Amino acid sequence: MSVLLIAEHNNKEVRPFTLNAITAASQMDGDVHVILIGNNCGDVAKSLSEMPAVKKVLHAEAAHYENYLAENFSPLVVKVSENYSHIVSSANTFGKNLMPRIAANLDISQVSDITKVISADTFLRPIYAGNAFATVKSTDVKKCITIRPTSFEPCETSGGSAPIEKIDATEEFALSKFIKREEVKSDRPELGTARVVVSGGRGMQNGENFKLITDIADKLNAAIGASRAAVDAGYISNEHQVGQTGKVVVPDLYIAVGISGAIQHLAGMKESKIIVAINKDGEAPIFSVADYGLEADLFEALPQFLEELNKL
Ligand code: FAD
Repeated sequence: MSVLLIAEHNNKEVRPFTLNAITAASQMDGDVHVILIGNNCGDVAKSLSEMPAVKKVLHAEAAHYENYLAENFSPLVVKVSENYSHIVSSANTFGKNLMPRIAANLDISQVSDITKVISADTFLRPIYAGNAFATVKSTDVKKCITIRPTSFEPCETSGGSAPIEKIDATEEFALSKFIKREEVKSDRPELGTARVVVSGGRGMQNGENFKLITDIADKLNAAIGASRAAVDAGYISNEHQVGQTGKVVVPDLYIAVGISGAIQHLAGMKESKIIVAINKDGEAPIFSVADYGLEADLFEALPQFLEELNKL
């Protein structure tokens, strides 16, 4: 029994959530093999081989693997999967796109977004937007699992020396083509991995007022989050959305400003270590999960907060 972990990377470096997924995989079984599918990604293979939890790296290279397309990646994972009892990836856009194709091809039921490995076949996962947890036992011979990255610590990245085995590429999938990628370049920490997140909601009233959030985020080296209402109203773009249909974040500090605390928002942030809420409505549900609550008008509180931060 071995676990096959699918690495997410950009041909230069491993994406951070892969480290959390390796930790989860190693709790299913100690024999974790990582499959690396890419083009000119020898450095990524080397860095994976140095992770002590990784026992082998399977490395496939081809021009059509240069850009990630689930249609090209899944046939290779399915081909390799016969030697494995578990196939694992992160429950982010990468894994959510790739894993269902693999599970469907193997005719097995995927177990999604697990937060805990109870045993090799039993897992804990949140349901009803995080309001309940289901303990799921999979009776499939092979298990396809996506893990919630923020529920597992990243694995160690040095000290190992796993062998790297070259494997053959599968053919290019003819019906889908990679056209282009548009990435938002930002010097800020990534929302999913930031230690501090400052989020704004509908209470911000418009996009320009988000400058109040940005100024504070700059001072705290924080990522910027938002509620869906703020995103839907066009105050900020949707990669900032936190919640059930946005990103799940577990920072050390989460500051929610002008956010009421709907369950779908809480599903994405309530595991944060310290939650601070600023809201003018003392009855707002966000206060029920907040460690520190400030009942105040954000247009008065945020400038005062910034003034204090400027004194530091
Ligand atoms: P509101 O609920 O309108 O709250 C605004 C808050 O700002 C209020 O509490 C108000 O008191 C406060 N406020 C207003 N003015 C000020 C001021 N001057 N000073 C201080 N406070 C002020 N939502 C998400 O966030 N993420 C998701 O991923 C998500 N997914 C969803 C999925 C589904 C299937 C559904 C049905 C909904 C989802 N939602 C999600 C939407 C969610 O239900 C709420 O509608 C949304 O979170 C509300 O956003 P909000 O708190 O910014 O707005």
